[in-house]
Amino acid sequence: MFNYNISSDACIKCAKCVPTCTIHSVNRDEVTSPRGFIALLGEYQRGNLELDREVKDIFESCFLCTNCVDVCPKSLPTDTLIENVRSDLADKYGIALYKRAFFYLLRNRKVMDIFFKFGYAFQSCGIKIKEEINSIKLPIVKRTVPSIAKKSFLNSHPDFIDNGADRTVAIFIGCLANYNYTDIGDSLLKILRRLDYNVFLAKSQVCCGAPAYFTGDFQTVDYLSKTNIKYFETFIDRVEGIIIPEATCSAMIRVDYEHYFYDQSEWHRRISKLKNRIFLATEWLYEKTDLNSILAQKGVRSDKLVTYHDPCHSRKMQGVYKEPRELIKNSYTFTEMEDPNHCCGFGGVTMQSEKYHLAKAVGDSKANMIEATSSDIVSAECSACRLQITDSLERNSVSTVFKNPIELIADALEK
Ligand code: SF4
Ligand code: SF4
Repeated sequence: MFNYNISSDACIKCAKCVPTCTIHSVNRDEVTSPRGFIALLGEYQRGNLELDREVKDIFESCFLCTNCVDVCPKSLPTDTLIENVRSDLADKYGIALYKRAFFYLLRNRKVMDIFFKFGYAFQSCGIKIKEEINSIKLPIVKRTVPSIAKKSFLNSHPDFIDNGADRTVAIFIGCLANYNYTDIGDSLLKILRRLDYNVFLAKSQVCCGAPAYFTGDFQTVDYLSKTNIKYFETFIDRVEGIIIPEATCSAMIRVDYEHYFYDQSEWHRRISKLKNRIFLATEWLYEKTDLNSILAQKGVRSDKLVTYHDPCHSRKMQGVYKEPRELIKNSYTFTEMEDPNHCCGFGGVTMQSEKYHLAKAVGDSKANMIEATSSDIVSAECSACRLQITDSLERNSVSTVFKNPIELIADALEK
């Protein structure tokens, strides 16, 4: 049984969290609210609740959006408690075969490279891969599937990109930006060249482990997090920092690794030392470089209207929301949607497969919010949000297109 050292008795039942809760917004039942989850966790900690399939279903309906953590006067880490109980559920019921296959790929970069090469080949042969996959009804792909790049980002560039500068920064790219949305990494390279930085691509990086963490596969999390930490330690003193253009990967490494290692003091110490050298890309670009003033001098060059969605893992977990907006506003006309901080409804592997109806319900309200702005572009520094928002926009016939802020900034610099 998990023994995360926060007692559910600390909840004072104030209900501040309930109106902010993503699952409660589409399933108005006290059981699927932070207060309800905490009450159930308390019964489980006291040995009064068995983890049966009904309880499993309840705990798997949390989006892990951290809205509740953000507003809780007792700072209760409901998301972390749920991640831990999901690990107990995984021990009891096992992990579905398709998820185990997916996590196996995440642990084996070379096999994943081959897998995605095949995926690209099928795609470019003109086979309608999405319809084919959907027709065999694998639960993971009932939704819009992103296209696969011909060559991964990491395999498209040398280890070290020498821009003739006297300073170097490292990039952690994340799996979706490596295999699917490769324009993000290419755009980041263009920006760093303009800013006079050499780039270390840190090619032995592995997945941050977020998909496994949210599913309760802690063996995979253990392997991936320790592999990354050991690798980062080999080069951290030679670079100005590690930048990540992906909110979920960045939050996983900077915040959730510490949560995960709460009872492994040596690893907790090692990630605590590293985490101050790791940054979300727009945060680092805004705070540590001249990019903002370079863009400001160029002025607004695009007539595209842009709105910004705050990824939960960016604003709530890392406090980053001003930086991407300020950088974008230099070059584009900007407008806010009604509630940019409202979760997009991605929710992780289980939500996107077995509970896709919930992801769709949350996604629809985000798509409506974006449509109401009449924006040409919606931006967010997160490819999980990109997957979910693109799917929601397509389903709701909204023509707004999605771009990572890094892509928008690189385009603006070239104009
Ligand atoms: S993490 Fe989000 S969905 Fe889960 S209980 Fe908290 S507010 Fe609700
Ligand atoms: S905000 Fe915190 S203390 Fe209040 S009901 Fe929610 S979990 Fe409990």
